[in-house]
Parts: sequence; structure tokens; C-alpha cells
Amino acid sequence: MRKIALEEHFMAPSFIPYFRSTSANISPDLFDKALDALADFGERRLAAMDANDISHVILSLAGPGVQIEKDTATAVRLAREGNDYLAEQIRRNSKRYGGFAHLALQDPTEAAAELERCVRDLGFVGAMINGQTNGAYLDDPRYFGLWERAEALNAPIYIHPGNPTDKPAMYAGHPELWGPVWSWGVETANHALRLVFSGLFDRFPKATLILGHMGEALPFQLWRLDSRWEISNRGAKRLSLAPSDYFKRNVVVTTSGVCSTEPLLCALGSLGKDRVLFSVDYPFERSDIASKFIETAPLPDDVRRLVCHGNAEALFRLRP
Ligand code: MN
Repeated sequence: MRKIALEEHFMAPSFIPYFRSTSANISPDLFDKALDALADFGERRLAAMDANDISHVILSLAGPGVQIEKDTATAVRLAREGNDYLAEQIRRNSKRYGGFAHLALQDPTEAAAELERCVRDLGFVGAMINGQTNGAYLDDPRYFGLWERAEALNAPIYIHPGNPTDKPAMYAGHPELWGPVWSWGVETANHALRLVFSGLFDRFPKATLILGHMGEALPFQLWRLDSRWEISNRGAKRLSLAPSDYFKRNVVVTTSGVCSTEPLLCALGSLGKDRVLFSVDYPFERSDIASKFIETAPLPDDVRRLVCHGNAEALFRLRP
């Protein structure tokens, strides 16, 4: 079945030093192999798409990008250059490629303006954010302008894993847990929960958050979030809906990097058939495994069609 994928990464030359900072999180051999695949916008990437019936991919810079740059002016300039670089690649093959903006969140006003430029002028569909920036998460009021712009532009924000500013003691002596095995999911799920419990989606009810990795385990937890929110020590905090309702209204998840049936059925059951979208996480995951998984998962055909391409077409207003 034809597929659209939306957690598919690339690398531009000036961002390699930032990408290298993640070498503590993944095995060094994988690192250089990934670089070659990330840099390719031609035969290699298209062959992996063609072999697996992936008609269109939304490309995003492999993190953390300029979000770890200490100099704000440099971050702003490079983000802009990186978006122009991606736009040029997309122009060469716009049938197959779309893009997520990369933003310098050190300057929230510039980040909002750059999102608008990317969507309006470059044809991008939203932005991908690699976790916190200088310790700030997207529930911080400094980002209300960004959310306001994203909501007005119908541009979803994809929160992709990144490292926190500190390394919590619970990971001491366990380097394997620091990264994709575990800590990235904890960090990213927590980021999403900050947005929900801050009331961000009461303020921006039409904003859309995208989470990868089958929702970073959150679809499994919705009932408990509602139940324990009721008795939590929440001070003056109020939400107009139950926490789970925001997930069903403002959050969509992708299947990136999770190729097993139980979490897929959990995500579909918890969030609804309109809120789960196929993705690979190329080149860090294998397109053939991800494709075979979704082609053979025990789903009714109409649901499979939505997950494979229908939901992405609706979310990004893509023509079939
Ligand atoms: Mn990824």
C-alpha cells in the first residue's frame, strides 16, 4: 500500500558538528554510516522509498541542530540557511519531498517568523523541534507567539527527542539507557505532558503536536493521567478538558521506530484511527521493516489506508 512518511531525516554540511554531539547516544559505527545516508537526496533515498511503496516523505534535519548553539545570532542565521538548503532539495523533487522547518528557539520571535517564512514562502508543512533549548520547553510563555503562528498557519509542531540540559542521576552507570533505548522517550513524553498540563491547548485549541515512536508510550497511559490528575497537588492549575481529551484533539503520533502490533493497536484505540501516521525514521530505522510491519499489521483495510497515507494527506493538505 502507498505510504507517506514524516520522520525522515537529512543532514546539511554546516550542521554536522551539532549532529556529532549525539555520538554519546548512539554507537560510533552507526554514526558515520548514518551521515552518508542522511546527506543523500537522490538515488539511495529514492530507492529505499520506491522499494517500499513510499510515495512522499517530509524531510527534517537530524537533531539537535542549532538548538544547542550557544550564540543566538549564529543559531538564527544557520537555521535560515538550513531551511533554504532543504527548500532547494525539495524544489528538485517536490513530488517526493516535503519539509519541516528547523528553528532557532533561542530567539522565540525569530523562530515564529522563520516558521511563517518556511510555510508561506518555502512550502514547508510545519516544524520539527528537537526537545528543549537552553533548558526551555515549548510550554514556556516565551513560545506563545510561536504556537499562535503555528496554529494560524495550520502548521503542526513535531517534537523529536533531544537530550535534557542535565543528566539525571537515575542514568548513572547505564550509558545504554541514555539515548534511544530509554531516556529520549522519557524526555519527549515529559515534554508533551508539560504542554498538555500547562493548558497550552486551551490557549491554542487548534494547534497540532506530532509525537514519534508511537506516541513515546503516552497512549498507554491516558486513563491513568486522567485519574491521577484528579487527585494531584495541582495548585491553581485548571484545564477545561480531561488530559486524555487533548491527546484526542491536539496530538497525532507516528509509527517511527516502533514496529510491533500491540503498541500500534494501543495508539489507534487510545487516540483514534485518524491520529496515527506511518513513518520510518530513516535512516536510523529500516524502511523495509517499517513497511512490512504496517502492510501486515492486523488492521481493517480502511484503517491501514488512513495510517499509511490518508491521515498524512489530511493533516498536511496533500493531494493524493
Ligand atoms: Mn528520528
